[in-house]
Amino acid sequence: MKTEAQQIEQIVKWVMDEIISKQEKVLDDYGIYNEMEDAIEAAWLAQKELIKFNLDTRSKFIAEIRKACSENVELLSRMAYEETGMGRYEDKIKKNLLVINKTPGVEDLKSEVFSGDDGLTLIESSPYGVIGAITPTTNPSETVICNAIGMIAAGNAVVFSPHPSARKTSLQTVQIINKAIIIAGGPGNLVTTVKNPTLENAEIMMKHKKVNMLVATGGPGVVKAVLSSGKKAIGAGAGNPPAVVDETADIEKAAKDIIDGGSFDNNLPCIAEKEVIVVDAVADYLIFNMKKNNAFEIKDPSLIEKLEKLILNEKGYPHKDFIGKNADYILKKMGIDCAPEIRAIIVEVSKNHPFVQKELMMPVLPIVRVNDIHEAVQVAVEVEHGFKHTAIMHSKNVDHLTALAKEIQTTIFVKNGPSYAGIGVGGEGYTTFTIAGPTGEGLTSARTFTRKRRCVLVGGFSIK
Ligand code: NAD
Repeated sequence: MKTEAQQIEQIVKWVMDEIISKQEKVLDDYGIYNEMEDAIEAAWLAQKELIKFNLDTRSKFIAEIRKACSENVELLSRMAYEETGMGRYEDKIKKNLLVINKTPGVEDLKSEVFSGDDGLTLIESSPYGVIGAITPTTNPSETVICNAIGMIAAGNAVVFSPHPSARKTSLQTVQIINKAIIIAGGPGNLVTTVKNPTLENAEIMMKHKKVNMLVATGGPGVVKAVLSSGKKAIGAGAGNPPAVVDETADIEKAAKDIIDGGSFDNNLPCIAEKEVIVVDAVADYLIFNMKKNNAFEIKDPSLIEKLEKLILNEKGYPHKDFIGKNADYILKKMGIDCAPEIRAIIVEVSKNHPFVQKELMMPVLPIVRVNDIHEAVQVAVEVEHGFKHTAIMHSKNVDHLTALAKEIQTTIFVKNGPSYAGIGVGGEGYTTFTIAGPTGEGLTSARTFTRKRRCVLVGGFSIK
């Protein structure tokens, strides 16, 4: 007959064996599961382990993630480029390094304090538990790295549902991150996913009772899906960022900034300049300077029509074969030879043209000429479609800048710089690849992935 203590010991041993056997299963595949249910269960167990470590150790896990991803940055960038066929390898390296180095970690978790005669009250940031994160094809490793750093720093585990077209890259990133945490002495399975990411698996994840929060980074469909889930959800949706240029701007600089931002990774980033709105007085000079900065102008109406037929599908949406392709590739398909340095194609069109209205995600920048700043603001607001994502403006007139900022209400508003200054490249502030306009969290970071909890100590510890 066993004593009570022996019985408890036996139960603890069973539980530990169970946990260890599940952890060992992970070590083979570093967080990749056949079934979504298993991926969620493993993440759930790992999160229970994570919160046993102190914050200093959690920081060490994050440091190891950054190190491992840096060591694999070329691999991940190459894989994304080859698997998706979109973007530019060298820009993908820059994007990956950006999230590796500038995504905030544990230091982002701030406490709030109230102290007085009645004692001490603390508002603490606690983890949600398991977060289900849906990631896009345009940033298949970057979003996984960025979400993993922020979510784990906040004490959560993450189950990823990557885009099927970027499966290999996203899965490889999950494995690298898991391995790094294990090397740092942490639990395996803080990030998990499935071998075959499908919409069905995403559905299972969105409905699972052990998933406490959903974070969707992608187009309108996926944002709607998570917001209809009945769970706490963060939606980081599509953008169509206008770049407005007025007559007071430094036109040479504006032209360079617009081409730099609008051609970065072939215009895949959701923040990238998608259309240019310029006042008539400086429009010709802006175009002249854009051409000096490796833009190729198409003026002939028949060629503009040819470009339209090539890059838009029958429904008027961007043709997937051209999303994220190089400008010289698109021009060659039109039978136009150009220098390989050409980064973007520019075309002057009306504001109603599909190039302006649709989020093209390719280095084709439509230019809309307007009479004055009032019309510029009106057009910019209209073509941004109320996404409240990103807008860029080149101007030295504070009233003009204020007018657009007030009207357009975007999460990111960049003044006198390329769009990517808004995510910490040549602009102050941290980075994120999950910009939550629709649900209002803005540029997400570790603290976004926490629940606020109030801890009240009555009648003590106020030593003012
Ligand atoms: P997408 O919407 O096609 O796919 C994004 C993810 O959502 C994928 O994993 C996809 O499998 C999944 N998905 C799509 N519909 C779903 C549904 N009904 N249920 C569950 N999952 C679903 O987007 P994409 O082409 O991969 O990425 C480009 C889009 O993402 C652009 O619109 C871009 O502006 C946007 N984006 C936004 C941000 C941001 O931070 N706001 C960042 C990157 C990309």
